[in-house]
Amino acid sequence: MKRKAQEELDYEAVVIGAGVGGIYQIKRITDLGLRATLLEADEDLGGTWYRNRYPGARFDSESYTYGYSFSKELLSEWHWKERFSGQPENLRYLNFVADKFDLRQYMQFNCRVASMEWDDDAHFWTISLTDGRVLTTRFIVAGLGLLSTPTPPRFEGMESFEGRSWHTYHWPKEPVDLTGLRVAVIGTGATGIQVIAEIADQVGELTVFQRRPNWSAPLNNSPISEEEMADIRDRYDEIYELCAKTPGGFEHQPDRRGFWSVTEQERIELWDRLYDEPGFGIWLQNFAEIFTEEKANAEFSEYIADRIRQRVDDPAVAEKLIPTDHGFGMQRVPLETNYFEVYNRPNVELVDLSAHPIVRITPNGVETTETERPFDLIVYATGFDAITGAYDKIAIHGVDGVKLRDKWADGPITYLGLMVSGYPNLMMIAGPQGASASSNFPRSIEQAVNFLSELLEFSLAKGATRIEAAPEAEEEWTQHVQDMFARFLLRKGKGWITGYNSNVEGRESGVQRYGVYNGGAPKYHARLEAVRSNDFDGVSVR
Ligand code: NAP
Repeated sequence: MKRKAQEELDYEAVVIGAGVGGIYQIKRITDLGLRATLLEADEDLGGTWYRNRYPGARFDSESYTYGYSFSKELLSEWHWKERFSGQPENLRYLNFVADKFDLRQYMQFNCRVASMEWDDDAHFWTISLTDGRVLTTRFIVAGLGLLSTPTPPRFEGMESFEGRSWHTYHWPKEPVDLTGLRVAVIGTGATGIQVIAEIADQVGELTVFQRRPNWSAPLNNSPISEEEMADIRDRYDEIYELCAKTPGGFEHQPDRRGFWSVTEQERIELWDRLYDEPGFGIWLQNFAEIFTEEKANAEFSEYIADRIRQRVDDPAVAEKLIPTDHGFGMQRVPLETNYFEVYNRPNVELVDLSAHPIVRITPNGVETTETERPFDLIVYATGFDAITGAYDKIAIHGVDGVKLRDKWADGPITYLGLMVSGYPNLMMIAGPQGASASSNFPRSIEQAVNFLSELLEFSLAKGATRIEAAPEAEEEWTQHVQDMFARFLLRKGKGWITGYNSNVEGRESGVQRYGVYNGGAPKYHARLEAVRSNDFDGVSVR
């Protein structure tokens, strides 16, 4: 069979996913003049911000650094109302962007992709949807999301529960009246911590089931006034320039003095100040050594432990809320608003699952090895099959029919987190081993979309119909990702960043998967720039 001509295919390019990445990608692709569509599994756009409607869901990036930077007009027209804005406003923002650039015309909703099959003779993909529809395209850009495959636990009896229950990702669209309800929240990651703090004073009784506590520090949110917003608009160039220079893609810059070159008193002064400042400053404006040196990390962790002790009335409860199996920042740090004070309320109970694990869910509630507690609502804040989960759900058959999920069985392998050898013409916006998961998400997303759009333009100008990461380039990148990981204490964490998930078969052991590029956003972006300026070195274009 010879190459299919463009006009024989339904589309030249298909973008999958209408989240932050897909929205910008469909703009760039259609700006190139390609005949393209965007397929979204949900009934509307927004991705993460469409789905996560649980009470308390909000940014922990400063809103104005989370927004897109690609259009001055966009920046001048949107007013962020809060420094860390909530899900409803975030979703409104994404709708505003899509409407402003008239992008809905390219989007098809309720289109869940079941499988994708590459034809290596004719150079095209066949995409099958779960409803039986089939379409063909030359290129695919996947914007599937890093945290879009929720993983409820696997407790016996979950279906028997006679009250209401859901995973936080599936919090209902219609308002839920929590007044007077006996509510269980299982899980204390970033999601659980947000929900718990938000609903504690709305519910009748709240029981928090915690298996391992997480380090957490105050978000310190506040409204953004008209004047402040005007100032932010004036400084947008400066703000984005700074974000581009910092490892996390935020405004926060690490303290360069050196942990051991200042006195303990000076360290405490810095931490006292950062604890009261907004956002991730407490993590990212800190001394670099807390990311790499056990001793420095232990001293800082003890400081945070003391702050927790000061906020929780009952010393025994406070100790249960302080992690002992990992130091601060070895797992993704959730930011909180009055989270620890929740445990001073008479209607809140903390159940320590490390002492009394859950045995089963009963028709009435939750049974641990200690007792059975009755509930009206059980909220599973139990996380996601992160990074590769959304890819694993689709049967992606590349060259010779090899399934991507088989290739990645022991961990993902990619070139720059953007392409995979053996899967030509398939590109990933926030793929495994990219910088998105370890930085302010949209800052790296924009970089990825810009890179992929330019790669497409470059390839089309050459009349190419097949672009693929070279196996050696992929090997080198995967090795580099592993080497960078080895430098940071983050490798010791047992969380989604290292590939652990007790609710996914084969991931319970916590054996490390290298799904995140940990070398910092500036290094990553410099690498993209180098590849781009070297005619997309490492990508075969023909
Ligand atoms: P997560 O960090 O993976 O936390 C899941 C929680 O559920 C953990 O406490 C875990 O305990 C617990 N858990 C899981 N299975 C359990 C089981 N079978 N029994 C008992 N406990 C169980 O998930 P997440 O909180 O949804 O957060 C995921 C990521 O989403 C975050 O790290 C962050 O990147 C992102 N996020 C961002 C924001 C934001 O502010 N922008 C908000 C929410 C989430 P163990 O620790 O013991 O496994």
